[in-house]
Amino acid sequence: MEEKKIICCRCNKELKPEKTYFSYLGHSYHADIMRCPDCGEVYIPEELVKGRMFEVETMLEDK
Ligand SMILES: [Zn+2]
Repeated sequence: MEEKKIICCRCNKELKPEKTYFSYLGHSYHADIMRCPDCGEVYIPEELVKGRMFEVETMLEDK
């Protein structure tokens, strides 16, 4: 599994993945979002918005 390190631009600390609850296109999701342990700043990568979200939506519809 490939892991990219993302550094908080404010604190210079490595962001950690954290289960985060959020809504997208009228649906609510739990997902691992990179979050700064210091200031709580979150980073949502473009691929999550474009790719993973679609997978999550498909999974929900399959149930
Ligand atoms: Zn920070």
